[in-house]
Amino acid sequence: MDQGLLAAEFRLYDPQSNIAKIEPAGRWKNVFADLDKHGVTVAGGRDGGVGVGGFLLGGGISFFSGKRGFGCDSVLNFEVVLANGTIVNANQTTNADLWRALKGGGNNFGIVTRFDLEAIPARDLYYDLRLLDSAYSDSVVNAVVRFADQDQPLADDALVTFYSYDTPVSSEIYVCTIHVNTMGNKNSATALHEIEDLPVIANVTVFQSMAEAAAGSQIAPGSRNAGSTLTFYNDPEIVRRCIEVHTQLVETLKGFINPDKFRTLSFFQPIPTYMGAIGQQRGGNMLGLDDMQHNALMWTAGVAVDSDSDQGAFAMAHAEMNKMTAQVKEFSRSVHGDMGFVYLNYADAIQNPLGSYGIRNIEHMREVAAKYDPTGIFQERVSGASRFQRLMQYPAIRAKDGGEDFQLNLMTPTKCDRRSPCASCVTLNAACRTTRRAPEKRQRVLLSSKYEEAVQEIGHHLADVKGMLHTLISSKDVGSCPPSSTGRSSEYAHRTQSPMIDEQVPTLASVREGYNGDPSFQSHAHRVESALEATLAASELIDVETPMTLPPDEVKELLHDASTTNTTTSDHVAPRNLLPPYDLELGDMPLPPIDIVLKLLRLAKADKQRFFSLRLCSEPSAESCRALALLGHSTVAWRLMSGAARASLDLGLHRLANRVDGQDLFQKRSVFWYIYAWDKGLAMTCGRTPVIHHYDVTTSFPLTPEDRSSVPGRLYGAFLDYSVVSEEIQRKLFSALAQHASQEVRTQEVDGFAVRIKSIHVILSLVPFASFIVLAGNAIATSSGVDLALLSSVVSILAPIAADCPTVRKVHDACERFHRIASLVVSRTSRYSPNPEEYQEQAFSNGLPPNDSADGLGTFNSAHPNSLDYGFPMAQQDRDSVMVGFESELGNYDPRALTHIIEPYIANAH
Ligand SMILES: Cc1cc2nc3c(=O)[nH]c(=O)nc-3n(C[C@H](O)[C@H](O)[C@H](O)COP(=O)(O)OP(=O)(O)OC[C@H]3O[C@@H](n4cnc5c(N)ncnc54)[C@H](O)[C@@H]3O)c2cc1C
Repeated sequence: MDQGLLAAEFRLYDPQSNIAKIEPAGRWKNVFADLDKHGVTVAGGRDGGVGVGGFLLGGGISFFSGKRGFGCDSVLNFEVVLANGTIVNANQTTNADLWRALKGGGNNFGIVTRFDLEAIPARDLYYDLRLLDSAYSDSVVNAVVRFADQDQPLADDALVTFYSYDTPVSSEIYVCTIHVNTMGNKNSATALHEIEDLPVIANVTVFQSMAEAAAGSQIAPGSRNAGSTLTFYNDPEIVRRCIEVHTQLVETLKGFINPDKFRTLSFFQPIPTYMGAIGQQRGGNMLGLDDMQHNALMWTAGVAVDSDSDQGAFAMAHAEMNKMTAQVKEFSRSVHGDMGFVYLNYADAIQNPLGSYGIRNIEHMREVAAKYDPTGIFQERVSGASRFQRLMQYPAIRAKDGGEDFQLNLMTPTKCDRRSPCASCVTLNAACRTTRRAPEKRQRVLLSSKYEEAVQEIGHHLADVKGMLHTLISSKDVGSCPPSSTGRSSEYAHRTQSPMIDEQVPTLASVREGYNGDPSFQSHAHRVESALEATLAASELIDVETPMTLPPDEVKELLHDASTTNTTTSDHVAPRNLLPPYDLELGDMPLPPIDIVLKLLRLAKADKQRFFSLRLCSEPSAESCRALALLGHSTVAWRLMSGAARASLDLGLHRLANRVDGQDLFQKRSVFWYIYAWDKGLAMTCGRTPVIHHYDVTTSFPLTPEDRSSVPGRLYGAFLDYSVVSEEIQRKLFSALAQHASQEVRTQEVDGFAVRIKSIHVILSLVPFASFIVLAGNAIATSSGVDLALLSSVVSILAPIAADCPTVRKVHDACERFHRIASLVVSRTSRYSPNPEEYQEQAFSNGLPPNDSADGLGTFNSAHPNSLDYGFPMAQQDRDSVMVGFESELGNYDPRALTHIIEPYIANAH
């Protein structure tokens, strides 16, 4: 093909036939200008810089669409160079099948060397452009929807409405409406009168030719652009959702791109039913809109990022745009408004336009391609189209099972965001497949070829991250899941899906050695463990090195025994080797019975790993934080969550404005506090210094007082309250500085914290076990009635909540058993054995709630006698029941699907 010939902008108008013969290489501004000289125009592009060829072969929406349908419907003849070099004409009488296929079928059949279009008398358009504050959205939405519903007699009017963020125009998102009457009629009675009296940021009303309008509407060079599109029924709710997600998009992009360096677009165009009918009357096209039953709106999303920004910024903006599209699609589906139609000319490379045109049209295009291009040159050898614009993607399927309504969604999604369904599947309207794919494939199809460089860069970053993970993992025993003390791990593995990322997450034990400092909290726990071991060492009969594994039934039995065993004199053996570094200052206090200590120690060893880890798993809404949070558990999670915490500080999420309301801010607050809680929780769990410092946090809690009135609200609120206290605990008890404080000061701090934690009430239902078991051990070691009262109060606090919440019930039952053991030991071995009155008095003087039980040891003895379940204290449904209603605020995802991803790692961490 002679490119020189195509480049020549040769146009001709034949007044006899009223046909404009247009060469394909031209841009519309020039086409209109040339045709103007002949007093005619055509149904061409509204933006002067758009090319003729792609516009007409993809359909073509113009200001004349209300009257003349898509631009391609005005094409009376295509001159085409076929794959074998033959030049043919395609029109209603000659090669009619090709003619129809070319109307919307893209570049699947040949190179069009001339478009013969029906001309339209050139008139000055009435052109009204107004910029409005987005605060007038209600009126704008009404106007847009009513305009799209207006009757065909008003089809000379066209409306383009878009929301945009573009700092040279406005520092805030603004709305632009462009109303055109192609007959130059200023006073047509459209629905736009609703917005005509609104105050404007700017308003331009002119009468101008199509050439002038197109020349005045061109996007400036110097940016990378991406767009995607959906079509939905004309429903104000969906329009509002589009406005909402666009606002979110802008906020998100502001988080990682200089606001002056990007622009956005959320664009609405009416597609009335009669537009589809016009196509049919004019010989048919491939768009599949002939039988539209309802007026519709075509929505187009766009992002533009300045070319001098780094490529990663554009790639992320592009991804965010696709996410927004998925959200709109999801919503329009949920209100049964999704039409499934994806317009080729606005589609993103991951979208599936041809697949949305209906099976009959696909079949027609396949047949035409096979007939005019039998060797498949255009299918396999011609670039310039995404894979979804190629017919070879569509296996031969005969019209059946729903005919035209059947959507051809045969491609695999390009990127899974781990939701169910994932964003890409929603965008593609495809059945979701979240199965693991080979990583290199995933990279290859992530973005279209024109973003290859950006993809490569991301690929390098990913490789680095992967390398780091491998380094972390390679020296460890990552493949095997250590036998669980309870035997549940393997059993659980049968019930859960296999991990969805390639690498197995290492077990906690295997990564622990990576930290060389003093693991503050762990060391504290270790002191208790050592004290217990030292006690055992006093008895030469017991081999403390034997594996500390107990099946659950045995645990239950032991606990049961523990609660009924009478102590013997042989239990009172003096310690021989209290380990100096962990001297708990037991002095010559009598020791608890050896078998009880052994059981406690065994439990501590067997379950420490689980109980000393936070078990609440969920995800923040910011994608990067999600990824970090999802990737690991315990020590691995600590590293990743630290990244999320650092990112949240970089984004200023810790200092958000508290007076301003809005879904977006609310969501950011939720994300921040989510990360905050994890940061503190994991710092405690792993014995590390948290990344976020409370003294620098001004962001308010994402909970209202009403939220806190429900059980989950109380739990979640308590979780956050506790996070705040836990930082102080870390600082004042476990930090390097705190380690130098005198025992007296530390004890005072502990007393203060005990009161504060007590005031949080329900927190021990969420992170109770580590502290509880330490306290129980301490009560046994010191025969402390004070500790016993504290243990008892925790059990009492948990009891009412346990009735509603399965998670808390399990924790309550476990705590109750430990309390029983501790109280038995204390009462039998210690100098101190409080009678009920003394007990209450002591509780009162310590600021603890009174114990209602008659025996002073709590009501817990008889509660849930057989329901202790150590197997999996935070099961999926438990977690759901605790977090329900709150995680949804952190973003749209299915918590069950998420739990399926997370749980295998938890199982592996046992
Ligand atoms: C700023 C802007 C405004 C827009 N406004 C509108 C609008 O008002 N209405 C609307 O419907 N769309 C609009 N579009 C979308 C536009 O129609 C598409 O981007 C279209 O693909 C542009 O065609 P092109 O020839 O300029 O692009 P190209 O990228 O050159 O071509 C697009 C596709 O068509 C194929 N193609 C082009 N010419 C030929 C030919 N002669 N023979 C065979 N195949 C060919 C190419 O191979 C390629 O696959 C707009 C796009 C932009 C960027």
